Amino acid sequence: MVDLKGQYNNIKDIVDAEIQQVIENTAFINGPKVHEFQKNLENYLGVKHVIPCANGTDALQIAMMGLGLKPGDEVITANFTFAATVEVIALLQLTPVLVDVNEDDFNINIDAIKKAITPKTKAIVPVHLFGQCANMEAIMEIAKEHNLYVIEDNAQAIGATYTYKNGKKVKAGTIGDIGSTSFFPSKNLGCYGDGGAIFTNDDNLAHIIRGIVNHGMYERYHHDVVGVNSRLDSIQAAVLDAKLPHLDAYNRARRHAALKYNQAFKPYKNIITPKVANGCEVICDACDCHVYHQYTLRIVGTNRDVLVKHLNEQGIPCGVYYPIPLHKQKAYIDDRYNEADFKVTNQLVKEVISLPMHTELDDEQIEFITATIIKFING
Ligand SMILES: *Cc1c(COP(=O)(O)O)cnc(C)c1O
Repeated sequence: MVDLKGQYNNIKDIVDAEIQQVIENTAFINGPKVHEFQKNLENYLGVKHVIPCANGTDALQIAMMGLGLKPGDEVITANFTFAATVEVIALLQLTPVLVDVNEDDFNINIDAIKKAITPKTKAIVPVHLFGQCANMEAIMEIAKEHNLYVIEDNAQAIGATYTYKNGKKVKAGTIGDIGSTSFFPSKNLGCYGDGGAIFTNDDNLAHIIRGIVNHGMYERYHHDVVGVNSRLDSIQAAVLDAKLPHLDAYNRARRHAALKYNQAFKPYKNIITPKVANGCEVICDACDCHVYHQYTLRIVGTNRDVLVKHLNEQGIPCGVYYPIPLHKQKAYIDDRYNEADFKVTNQLVKEVISLPMHTELDDEQIEFITATIIKFING
């Protein structure tokens, strides 16, 4: 599914040198490398504050703590996402309110958000699933109208651009009150262990969050709020700082692969390719509207699981993201949910399949993968 070794081999000299430097300096925690990477990421994203932390799940949790959400507050998020998003809501004893997604771009559905709002709703967490932004303009409008916070779960879309209707472009994760991301190795900007970050343009929130990530300390050994220990270590920061200058090229390589997949599948109505929403109807080389963390197809009329088995037998890795909707996961079952409200998610979990997607994928591999799928489905 991913080729981390191939990517490493291309940047080995710089990564090795950066890691070696951290070891020489022995500033393993909060060293200068962490600060350098933070500044470089702030510049890249065009955001005022980046606060590095230990992983993408912590980033979401800390964002919710920073906003002062209280037990019983309702937080609306997508039913079709990785469990981390809903996990931290539940962990903080907030009430997760799962809603349906769009069938074409897999992102949170705007009408479903509107329908789920109650007097207890305090925040919306759109997940920029598979590498492209949810409809942020509509989400920010709803948030403004109902006085809600917006936390963007940007674990899958770092480097993606969001285009407003008026043409204004901003980086994913910098639109809501807070954005979060993950540097898990297989993410678009991955380190060699765990890592994450929180983004905000709000000076006050940034100050609060910087304390929370460090045991609620704003002054040494003065603990003003309940915090956590969530740090990006210097070795991970060194890897990330070496990779950040390549992020746009990595995302372009992903888009190139997606374009090849799209072209191959275009004639087949029973293989539905992922839609690019929000600004770019076609995939363009000029912008990063979609950064394809996953390249996810919908297979109709053929049993998806039989296809998965066939591809595995042919030595083609593939994944199903996600096979079970969150509202059916034992940890998150809730009487408030009505199956009729999850038509799209319930359908997608049966149809989706994600194909190999990484920066080192070549045209020959893509041709073999697409030909194998087309032959199996269409004979
Ligand atoms: C990966 C991911 C996370 C969690 O990130 P970790 O660094 O693994 O904790 C959260 N949300 C989404 C959508 C993700 O894909």
